[in-house]
Amino acid sequence: MNPETKTCENCKQAFTIELEDFVFYEKMKVPPPTFCPRCRLQRRWIFRNERFLYNRKCAMCDKQMLATIREDVPVIVYCNPCWWTGDWGGEMYGRDYDPNKNFFEQFRELMLSIPFPPTVVDYQSMIGSEYTNYADHLKNCYLLYDSNNTENALYAQTCFSTKDSMDFIGIGNSELCYEVVIGGTSSKVFFSYDCTQCMNVYFSRDMSGCSYCFGCASLKNMKYC
Ligand SMILES: [Zn+2]
Ligand SMILES: [Zn+2]
Repeated sequence: MNPETKTCENCKQAFTIELEDFVFYEKMKVPPPTFCPRCRLQRRWIFRNERFLYNRKCAMCDKQMLATIREDVPVIVYCNPCWWTGDWGGEMYGRDYDPNKNFFEQFRELMLSIPFPPTVVDYQSMIGSEYTNYADHLKNCYLLYDSNNTENALYAQTCFSTKDSMDFIGIGNSELCYEVVIGGTSSKVFFSYDCTQCMNVYFSRDMSGCSYCFGCASLKNMKYC
């Protein structure tokens, strides 16, 4: 069997299926793919929704809440207070597996009967931080994702142990930062990229141990540059 070039059913781009792929599909007893690798990856990632929050009603207490699952998706979603009560459990949805029936149909039926939490947060450790997901130990935070141990921060992705900061991605152990991409253990860093152990640094990149710098790149342990 030779490598085969196919057109992706989704994005209409050409993609190649190599010989060893065919061997693998044969071994797994699955048909060759109709989507290209990139579209297949997107399809696998669809299951995880990190940053979109929707209004939806709790299936237990009927209160309005924010959830990562849209109202029209027919699964059971509880608000965080209800989900964390423990007033429900496996006896509600547990069932025997029937080897004579299709696995995926049974899996789907089971999935539709198990309550989902609205967001993935450690609810009991959160204070005033409803608009967040994949988070724990946040206080007064808004639109923070994949973050923990942070206070007074907004519009951020992937941060830990940070305070009083806004518009940033990938920082930790920092405070008073704005428009920062990647960094840590810093204070008052603005409009900068990849700065660690910095203080009062503006419009700079790839800086380490620097303070009072403006418009600099690739400096270590420098001051007033
Ligand atoms: Zn594609
Ligand atoms: Zn509820």
